[in-house]
Amino acid sequence: MPDVYNWQLNRAMAYEYEDSRPTRQVSAVFDINKCIACQTCTMACKTTWTSGKGQEYMFWNSVETKPWGSYPLGWDVKNLEMLGPAAWDYATDPPTYRGKTLFEKTPDGERVAGYLPDELDYAHPNHGEDETSGNIEDTPYYLSLPHAIWTFYLARICMHCTYPACLAACPRKAIYKRKEDGIVLIDQERCRGYRECVRACPYKRTFYNHVTRVSEKCIFCYPAVEQGIWPRCMRNCIGKIRIVGYVHPPALSDPRNPIDFLVHEKKLALPLYPQYGLEPNIYYIPPIHVDSTFNRQMFGPKAAQAVQMYGRIRAGLEPELQAVLLLCVSTDKILGRFDLQGDEAVGYDMSGVEVVRVPLQEPAVVREPYDDQLRVYRHNIT
Ligand code: SF4
Ligand code: SF4
Ligand code: SF4
Repeated sequence: MPDVYNWQLNRAMAYEYEDSRPTRQVSAVFDINKCIACQTCTMACKTTWTSGKGQEYMFWNSVETKPWGSYPLGWDVKNLEMLGPAAWDYATDPPTYRGKTLFEKTPDGERVAGYLPDELDYAHPNHGEDETSGNIEDTPYYLSLPHAIWTFYLARICMHCTYPACLAACPRKAIYKRKEDGIVLIDQERCRGYRECVRACPYKRTFYNHVTRVSEKCIFCYPAVEQGIWPRCMRNCIGKIRIVGYVHPPALSDPRNPIDFLVHEKKLALPLYPQYGLEPNIYYIPPIHVDSTFNRQMFGPKAAQAVQMYGRIRAGLEPELQAVLLLCVSTDKILGRFDLQGDEAVGYDMSGVEVVRVPLQEPAVVREPYDDQLRVYRHNIT
């Protein structure tokens, strides 16, 4: 197998094919602290792309409650059992992953270490909803961070990985990564439904259609992206947790690009299970109220620093971060650049045209409780 460079591991690793990064790579950042598990994203995707026969059980976007929820059942626990504890070497900066990835832990004759979920694993997509990490009556109640008892919501779509396991495993070469934007797609004509992609993808984001007998997956709503517009699940997000854009490798990071700023410059947004080795391109701002070892297991060695950075925003010490987080949820256009002008955040689309401008502080207007002109009292005066 050739060696490719995975910056999330800070080392080269084995992969089925030669390194071939796209011209640009779609990406998104999800702020876990803001997700309310309303599942609007899930339904936005479902009604757009998976309402047909054979797609009943498919949720290209799903939201699971951690620590107990998972869809399909136990996907992450099974991968972690396969890999063992993540061996990060903290002597280097950034830390280096010294353990094996799913491409390096392959059984003989296979390209990726994986497993095929059972039918029943897909039967309860919201299993464990709102179940907390422990019993409240067993633990003293206090208000400091992290909480003794916690829960959080993990929204998930396909990661459009730099090194997709689904693509590596497909014996038909039916899966491809688009050169122009890095979106990973399954060619429905070439696919023969062998389900090697379902077995290989550790995030379990490809799904077999029993009616058409081919596999399907999230397409990052490429018809919208080609128009510079956010995907459906992102546009409809009620909690405004999602930011869409393009990410560069760290050596090419552009400090004015919103995603690069969050991922590389401020290291606020982190990959999910980087130790798998796929270099996933959906990033997460980790939950601030959660046990730090759980965060480290899930988001890698920089999780505690990201939580600290989030605290700096809340303390008003990071106006540029505040600007990016505000801007990117105030438009459905994909932004290529942001700027902070005085107390206004400004966003530009991919061709450099200004498309959004928002104040860092929402203006407050206080009205008199009694309106002389209308001769009415107002209950809500702000
Ligand atoms: S729509 Fe947004 S807030 Fe609601 S569940 Fe999905 S990601 Fe979370
Ligand atoms: S998340 Fe899974 S389906 Fe998506 S690109 Fe990565 S390996 Fe493929
Ligand atoms: S990006 Fe589009 S296809 Fe993918 S989960 Fe979201 S709505 Fe579905």
